[in-house]
Amino acid sequence: MDIELERPLRILIMAAEIVPFAKVGGLADVVGALPKALQDLGHDVRLVMPRYGQVSPERFQLTSVLDAVTVKMSQYQEQVRIMQGSIGNDIPVYMVDAPRYFDRENIYGYIDDGERFILFCRAALETMRLLDWSPDIIHCNDWQTGIVPNWMHTVYHEDPFFSDAATVYTIHNLAYQGIFGYRILEVAGVASGGFLYPQIVELANVVDIMARGIHFSDAITTVSERYAQEILTPTFGEKLDPLLRSRRERLFGILNGIDYLEMNPATDHYIRSQFNSASLEKRAGNKQALQERAHLPVRSDVPLLAMISRLADQKGFDLISQISQPLLAQGVQLVVLGIGDQHYHEMFQNLAVRYPQQVAIFLTFNSELAQSIYAGSDMFLMPSRFEPCGLGQLIAMRYGSVPIVRKVGGLADTVQEYDPRSGLGNGFTFDNYDPWDLFAAIVRALELFRFKDVWRTLQQRGMEADHSWHASAMRYVDVYRDAIAFHKSGK
Ligand code: ADP
Repeated sequence: MDIELERPLRILIMAAEIVPFAKVGGLADVVGALPKALQDLGHDVRLVMPRYGQVSPERFQLTSVLDAVTVKMSQYQEQVRIMQGSIGNDIPVYMVDAPRYFDRENIYGYIDDGERFILFCRAALETMRLLDWSPDIIHCNDWQTGIVPNWMHTVYHEDPFFSDAATVYTIHNLAYQGIFGYRILEVAGVASGGFLYPQIVELANVVDIMARGIHFSDAITTVSERYAQEILTPTFGEKLDPLLRSRRERLFGILNGIDYLEMNPATDHYIRSQFNSASLEKRAGNKQALQERAHLPVRSDVPLLAMISRLADQKGFDLISQISQPLLAQGVQLVVLGIGDQHYHEMFQNLAVRYPQQVAIFLTFNSELAQSIYAGSDMFLMPSRFEPCGLGQLIAMRYGSVPIVRKVGGLADTVQEYDPRSGLGNGFTFDNYDPWDLFAAIVRALELFRFKDVWRTLQQRGMEADHSWHASAMRYVDVYRDAIAFHKSGK
């Protein structure tokens, strides 16, 4: 084995969201946890993200490391400050502090999102130069950082500081590609390369930043093996399947883990009654706490179904709406925590008004409440249209809530239908995106719920499965080494 390749790596991870500082979805969980596992494997990991207005310097004890970094955008210069926080065992998290761009109410959703994240990326790379820390790997995540691999072939191409840096690009969700008009190429300083994809009709006249990340990176990953296969097809490829197929030998699926220290029912202080797989009886206290908090009748015998999710079309809420009446006719309770599209807010509000004894809806983002729902529910629903990995089902299993999921993406890789003949399986699944298939899966779960011993076996199986980051981090390191080899070969 090449000794050079075996040495610890300097890994720079760039992302728009990182737990505990800012979170919209699973991206933040991943980037908040993977680095700790990489560090445990002996690597030097550093992170960089924007400092949003809501990331309080006092609360997170941020320090200022560089007071004035000049960031060259193509038509102007911007001065930013670099602050620093940390996660885990002193893993540095650099934050680009540029209030004009990031001191806003939300993380995304602005007309200048393209400029905002291009500034962020440029500032992040220049910061590494000023800190004299040249990475072996630049690990980019989702569209917000997709311009970086493009730059490694253009503006930074001849730059000795970055010449050894290989890029790895992780797709957390292909549905959000960062699509802009031509001007963004000028902002990014890469206009001379043109649009890139005249052959893909939908991309002929737009700039798709995620496509650039895929096209230019040394290696590409996505967050489950099944999703890595699915996105090569038109059904899941979100128009990028031809591009992905052309790079399939560099595309790897690596399942996300969850943070086993943070997500641990035996130590979680957000829940009323701590428990483990050998003391599942204590879990009853959490169901009671949840029913009280949700103003639902406190009854241990009634099956309590839960959803915790962005309220977006991806997550299959239209299926729930089509079966809500027959589902509630089964006498179940349903607790939903989510925030997102207005029409789903209304749909659930209406249900809660109609069925106050059965349905409770929390239209907010609240991580503490999420833990009590994972710990107190009997079943966890994820009937997604598509699901790159899905963390909800993993956390649910860790907390003894049995998942009912559609067999797509990472859900298919992590949840297996309970088979009464063999006794194998850890949840309930359905194939077609069809309300009655979902309903049938729920009915199978409700049937089994009556058999307490078997149900407990399912819970224990979920709780004892290993979805920690350790194994996945080792796979990332393999991909990092592959990326370095690809980079060196100049391919
Ligand atoms: P996605 O990344 O598509 O949103 P995932 O299942 O991969 O879906 O990750 C969602 C993460 O966000 C999980 O950790 C889930 O518990 C959390 N989450 C989603 N909505 C909320 C909410 N309203 N309040 C608290 N946590 C939430």
